[in-house]
Amino acid sequence: MKKNPYSRLFDPVQIGPVVTKNRFYQVPHCCGMGHLRPKAHAAMRGIKAKGGWGVVSTEEAEIHPSSDLAPYVEQRIWDKKDIPALQLMTEAVHEHGALAAIELTHSGHNSTNLFSRIPAISPDAQAVNFLYPKQARRMTKKDISEFRAWHKKAALNAKAAGFDIVYVYAGHGMSVAQQFILPNMNSRSDEYGGSLENRLRLTRELLEETRDAIGDTCGIAFRFAVDELKGKDGMQFQEEGQAVVELLSEHPDLWDVNVSDWSNDSQTSRFQPEEGYQMPYVEFVKSITTKPVVGVGRLTSPDLMVKLVEKGSLDLIGAARPSIADPYLPSKIKDQKTDQIKECIGCNICVSSDNFTVPIRCTQNPTMGEEWRRGWDPETISPKITDQKALVVGSGPAGLECAVQLARRGYQVILAESKSQLGGRVLFESSLKGLSAWKRVVDNRVHEILQKSNIEVYKDSKLSLELVKELGINNIFLATGSSWRKDGIGRSRRAPIKGVDGIKVYSPEEVVENEKKIKDTVVIYDDEQGYLAGVLADHLSAKGIKVVFITPASVVSPWTDSTLEQKRVQRALIDSGVKIICNQSINKIEDETVFLECVYTGNISKHECKSIVMVTERISNNSLYENLINNNSEVKTKQNIKIIGDAEAPGLIADAVYLGHLAAQNFEAEEADIQRGIFMREMPSLK
Ligand code: ADP
Ligand code: SF4
Repeated sequence: MKKNPYSRLFDPVQIGPVVTKNRFYQVPHCCGMGHLRPKAHAAMRGIKAKGGWGVVSTEEAEIHPSSDLAPYVEQRIWDKKDIPALQLMTEAVHEHGALAAIELTHSGHNSTNLFSRIPAISPDAQAVNFLYPKQARRMTKKDISEFRAWHKKAALNAKAAGFDIVYVYAGHGMSVAQQFILPNMNSRSDEYGGSLENRLRLTRELLEETRDAIGDTCGIAFRFAVDELKGKDGMQFQEEGQAVVELLSEHPDLWDVNVSDWSNDSQTSRFQPEEGYQMPYVEFVKSITTKPVVGVGRLTSPDLMVKLVEKGSLDLIGAARPSIADPYLPSKIKDQKTDQIKECIGCNICVSSDNFTVPIRCTQNPTMGEEWRRGWDPETISPKITDQKALVVGSGPAGLECAVQLARRGYQVILAESKSQLGGRVLFESSLKGLSAWKRVVDNRVHEILQKSNIEVYKDSKLSLELVKELGINNIFLATGSSWRKDGIGRSRRAPIKGVDGIKVYSPEEVVENEKKIKDTVVIYDDEQGYLAGVLADHLSAKGIKVVFITPASVVSPWTDSTLEQKRVQRALIDSGVKIICNQSINKIEDETVFLECVYTGNISKHECKSIVMVTERISNNSLYENLINNNSEVKTKQNIKIIGDAEAPGLIADAVYLGHLAAQNFEAEEADIQRGIFMREMPSLK
């Protein structure tokens, strides 16, 4: 094998008393598993260690009930009783020679304490971050000293649980230490407020006390947000951000640096296409400290990683999302199989699962979150158990994933696609403004298909009942997708909009196909309230088309709150001159006049327009499936026919990939087995 051009990434790095075997560092990230699902958590982190990450971290670990993040499911280290669950993770990580890190967290006024019901604490009395009419109380000196004692106790318990690296955390607006540092959250006049030295006092104490407690065997990491991306209204890396690094430069064993808040740290590719986008903010840190520095920014390309190390920007390649999209990223780089890396598309579906308080999921990696409950591993799948062939109809995300996994299992697969290109809905969506990185869902899978000799691909091949019968294959996966409806049925109404036939109506695909011809203002009616209508509005206005955005929702694309994008979406539309009309559903259409109904009062107003883009609901393309199932009793008895992805039930691209994967995994299982053994569950102990 030729010399690995990425060998620099496999240098060991000293972090205080411990050494990581390489530069791949999975920084702390939420996963919706935490203290509620410790086995799932351990298995998920364990897969990352198996995939070659040198350091694998937890998510935020609450150190005390006064920092209770419910309803979010994070990690907990309130007392010794949490040690056994955390040990599951450290053991799973150590099994593969990686170091385990824990992010000790007290969230101050970022915790609402909905579960513990203890009043939240913060440097100043102020509203809690969560939308709940509750305030945190100002910490007294006694509170500060108790808080330091909790942190120290948590550090000792972390060491007892087997962690190698323990964090002091001052980032994301989610930690009391950071709240003390930031002047707009700390107006104290005692020795913990006022000058930067004073505001930094608590952090300095935490670093020193953590080192005294466990520094003999554990590395002390400091996670610090150098910039809030608020300009002069917040922390800036050229000013106090840098001053903090100067004042504490040699205090931690490791600097983990990023930007705040979470929506800035985990920017989506839609609004931040640049890989390594945080480097301009954080790369100064290495010039100030001799300690190793880790940074993030959706780092996926090994060339960029080596460049950052060689340039002296970073010592360790930090990753949350790239490690979620591909837990095996380090070993693929080590084995010089970089073409096999599943590249993060920057969609933040992973983030949304934390916001919905369910186990993590990923568009690119359907096995994420399923390591324990279904026993899935992104690189290993059980081999075939019969010699039967499989036919997959449709090459959207569901069909592509299903075909790839069936082929990985060793089955002979035929993949038929009616269009001239593979990719289904991803081809359309990734052609829209800001979504080009989504194409990786298709590119990564098509690349794999091309390497395999057991998948035959037929493009421009629309399959009918007769053609399917002619092929004579018994196992059929119908991944025929869905189509946007144009009658106005959506969240707000279950009957077609009256008069919809009297006006020009476009589906999302049709309006883009016609974008060069459209001269008049277009109304986009968003009664889906997901992401697509907002993307279309942005896309069309960038093409010079005037857009009026009408929605029954109270903001544009409310679902994108879960991916940390909503404010950016609304700002983009305002900036591009889109007229936004919220809280209105379409009641009826007459003579190019749309009658809008206020969702609160029912009051009617009118809006003139020549054409409407309907983004409301989708209809499953299930006619071939229905024909196969219903119209042919002979076929029905002999064949194993499955409908998957959007054809079964329209959803996210992530859902389609997942359902394609699930179908390939469950290929030979009897329906009853699939229903019975859905997945393992973690049951609360009744002891
Ligand atoms: P999903 O998200 O479930 O994967 P998509 O809508 O992205 O669904 O993809 C469905 C794909 O199936 C489209 O590319 C479409 O052209 C293709 N397709 C639909 N019906 C047929 C058919 N009868 N024969 C072959 N391909 C089909
Ligand atoms: Fe990346 Fe999207 Fe997967 Fe998150 S869900 S890791 S953003 S591909």
